[in-house]
Amino acid sequence: MSKKNDSSFQQTLVLIKPDGLKKSLTGNILTRLSETKLNIVGARVTKVSRKLAENHYYHLREKPFYPELILYLQGKIHKKEKILALVYEGKNAIKKVRQIAGATNPEEATPTSIRGSYGRITTKGVYENVIHASSNEKEAQREIKLWFKPNEIIS
Ligand code: UDP
Ligand code: MG
Repeated sequence: MSKKNDSSFQQTLVLIKPDGLKKSLTGNILTRLSETKLNIVGARVTKVSRKLAENHYYHLREKPFYPELILYLQGKIHKKEKILALVYEGKNAIKKVRQIAGATNPEEATPTSIRGSYGRITTKGVYENVIHASSNEKEAQREIKLWFKPNEIIS
């Protein structure tokens, strides 16, 4: 079977969120992610419009922390109005990246994971967890289309 027909061969979206950029963590995060031995097939720095942030976090629109979350992803909280978007590709890419990223709540994340090492919970209750990582294949495909044009992915 060729690699690309193998269902464990996946693409996943990573966002280094505004707090990650503000805290100068890009190098550390990319180094941690390189432990996966996955391939980077897309990378871009982009400003996050309100529409894009709302689309990305569509599934959380009813949550009490949603308005603050949208401001967070837009970089309005950190006065750093951009993110670094990456697409990683390879065998079990989604699980491998989620594992190194750590649990959503930085207080519950394994201390050596990216979120466990660098995340925090704000006084408003938002998890500033420095990185986004797609949670399943359907979400990954949806998210990659949101953040990248097809010709920006070099697989
Ligand atoms: N989030 C939060 N409080 C919560 C749950 C989520 O602030 O109780 C934020 C957090 O930044 C998280 C994002 O919303 O990364 C998206 O939530 P999701 O449940 O999709 O978690 P993830 O897939 O990022 O681990
Ligand atoms: Mg999620």
